[in-house]
Amino acid sequence: MIPPLTGQLLAWYHKNARELPWRFTFDPYAILVSEVMLQQTRVDTVIPYYSRWMNRFPDVKSLAHASEDEVLRAWEGLGYYSRARNLHRAAQLIVQMHNGIIPASAETLKQLPGIGAYTAAAVASIAFREDELAVDANIRRVASRLFDLPDPLGSPALDTAARSALLVQMPPENAGDFNQALMELGACICLPRQPLCSSCPVQALCLAYRNGTTSERPVKPGKPAIPHFQVTAAVIWQEGKVLLAKRPASGLLGGMWEFPGGKIQPGETRQQALAREIVEELDTEILVGEQIGVFKHAYTHYKVTLYAYHCRLDGKQPIALAAQEIRWITPAELEQYPMGKIDRMISQKIQ
Ligand code: SF4
Repeated sequence: MIPPLTGQLLAWYHKNARELPWRFTFDPYAILVSEVMLQQTRVDTVIPYYSRWMNRFPDVKSLAHASEDEVLRAWEGLGYYSRARNLHRAAQLIVQMHNGIIPASAETLKQLPGIGAYTAAAVASIAFREDELAVDANIRRVASRLFDLPDPLGSPALDTAARSALLVQMPPENAGDFNQALMELGACICLPRQPLCSSCPVQALCLAYRNGTTSERPVKPGKPAIPHFQVTAAVIWQEGKVLLAKRPASGLLGGMWEFPGGKIQPGETRQQALAREIVEELDTEILVGEQIGVFKHAYTHYKVTLYAYHCRLDGKQPIALAAQEIRWITPAELEQYPMGKIDRMISQKIQ
């Protein structure tokens, strides 16, 4: 017996499905071409390309025997050109290994270039009526609402929960229509930002709608935590001058001037970190003195808390191991040197 949700969904689909050129055919080649073209591309964009493609390469053999230039020319403007090259290569392999006949099972289809689990399941279920569930981002979103799934987008837990919930609903020997009905619901009604619940054919059975959580489904993945670095810097004094180092030309703050120092490693005190950094960067030793201040700054992808210290040399003259160049300058000259926000704060404090 067909579950009520599936029955209502299929009834709506059969009445309302858009008349797309690849719909209502069981030709596996046509379905494969449409599914590959629809990866990361909107339906409206695909339609004219699909029609031209099917005129130019109406079957697997005509595609297999075409040159790569012809194939890419026909795909030109659709983007993601590896799709065209993979489709071409898949057609050649189908001719060589399967006598020009597209394999009926999702497992075998997945062995062909450019055909992932979703595309293989879509072709096998629509063209060959295999009992395969095709779950892409669109269907995952619909499932997360229909079954009010709390797992975040992109998590394996959401994928597993969506699959198990949908498998219970999937009608035997009609997975193709079931998959297409879910795709259609996601494309036309259960839209990513604002689902059109008042027009939804399965509203009465939608758990997110019943629970008032449609705006919270699917759960967005948490933003990755912004790293927060603890850093030290040395204002090394010698005869009334301080030492500045010029950062490497490439990378963050490339070519700017700074007070030498670096990140505090786990288990180090600030003074130990500073002494180590100075050996690594300047091949000399220092005595770490009084703290100048604590400086905080948030960059786009990370935050820094920097502890700056007055220091003096306790070894040979420094050499620039990590920097492009080092210079001894008077505090009054600091103004002339370009530097990042934190180093400017330090220089203002010591001036
Ligand atoms: Fe999506 Fe709303 Fe329909 Fe639920 S009721 S499936 S949230 S459109």
